[in-house]
Amino acid sequence: MSKNSSRPVGRHFLHIPGPTPLPDRVLRAMDTPIIDHRGPEFAKLAKHCLGGIKTIFKTTNPVIIYTATGTGAWEAALVNTLSPGDRVLMVETGQFATLWKTMAEKLGLRPEFIKTDWRIGADPAAIEDHLRRDKNKEIKAVCVLHNETSTGCLSPIAEIRKAIDAAGHPALFFVDTISSLASTDYRHDEWGVDVTVGGAQKGLMLPPGMSFNAVSDKAFAAAKSSQLTKSFWAWDDMLAMNKIGFFPYTPATQMLHGLSASITMLHEEGLENVFARHHRLAEATRRAVRAWGLEIMCRDAKYYSPTVTAVLLPDGHDADAFRHFALDTFNISYGSSFGRYAGKYFRIGHLGDVNEGMLAGALAITEMALALAGIPHKKGGVQAAIDYLIAAQASPAQAAAE
Ligand code: PLP
Repeated sequence: MSKNSSRPVGRHFLHIPGPTPLPDRVLRAMDTPIIDHRGPEFAKLAKHCLGGIKTIFKTTNPVIIYTATGTGAWEAALVNTLSPGDRVLMVETGQFATLWKTMAEKLGLRPEFIKTDWRIGADPAAIEDHLRRDKNKEIKAVCVLHNETSTGCLSPIAEIRKAIDAAGHPALFFVDTISSLASTDYRHDEWGVDVTVGGAQKGLMLPPGMSFNAVSDKAFAAAKSSQLTKSFWAWDDMLAMNKIGFFPYTPATQMLHGLSASITMLHEEGLENVFARHHRLAEATRRAVRAWGLEIMCRDAKYYSPTVTAVLLPDGHDADAFRHFALDTFNISYGSSFGRYAGKYFRIGHLGDVNEGMLAGALAITEMALALAGIPHKKGGVQAAIDYLIAAQASPAQAAAE
């Protein structure tokens, strides 16, 4: 809401890195009468979702759909496969990696945390080195975030798979794709991931409240001997019911209507086009940030996130105050900062049902807010982004390479 106005005018600019703006088509698909979750109409819907979601994770194995936020799917990955006291290797890429590690501790696992300065993704060489030092092969799982939403750093999953193999280590490989799925290339089967954790509220363009486990045969085998306590999260109950198109409990029917629509929409656009669009929007955002003379939190280009860009403000300028100012003045929401970087950066989300015009609007608002808030910066960020977006339309192959 403009500080000069008594009511918010126009649409809110939701540029947090999820939940993302809902396409009207998803909203309409959810705006439908409740159906019997044990009836034939439901089974048809569930089968469409259970089949379709595999194409998003790129797996031929079952994908478990939970009525829970992403945090639930984190827990499900751990409790279905591991036993009390198991050692797990995790990488401290940022706030969400830290939360997953804290969860592992609370569940009675023994996480080992590879440190970073929160400004890069997970380094395959560091993982390989750690695993090589585990001479007795006691580490049971390697857990990595594909995209660390708190910092805007992407980790190279195929390379990490190769690093685990190069170390000759039998650990399971778990990947969190909550802020990367359906936004950038991801291949559960081909990349040899054992459990992929996903969430609904980002690239899938759905409300929060649904999450996923894509599961390999190796992980299903590990589940047979896993000793951690589980009930709601248990894969076996779910699989048995899913086979006939049902769930062991009352599922989130309206979310499934939305999921069915979102899977259809993603394939209508074409996954490759979805990924190229996210790449373009991310690159345009980074060009704007550089033109402003501000620093991108991710300090190594090979880890740049396709879905969120964290922007460091100059010393002495509070990023939280800036976010509040931009919200009050221009009705835009950015993501906040975390941990040791609290107050130092804000995050621009550019994922989900976002197009060039929406991003250009968000960057224009950001440039106006920087000026009005007295943050030292140069003009021309919006122009740099627009120049790139024009060039990207004219020459998509060139844009993809940048
Ligand atoms: N992992 C990542 C990478 C996230 O971005 C989030 C939330 O944003 C989570 C896990 C936790 O998911 P949720 O908030 O849906 O429980």
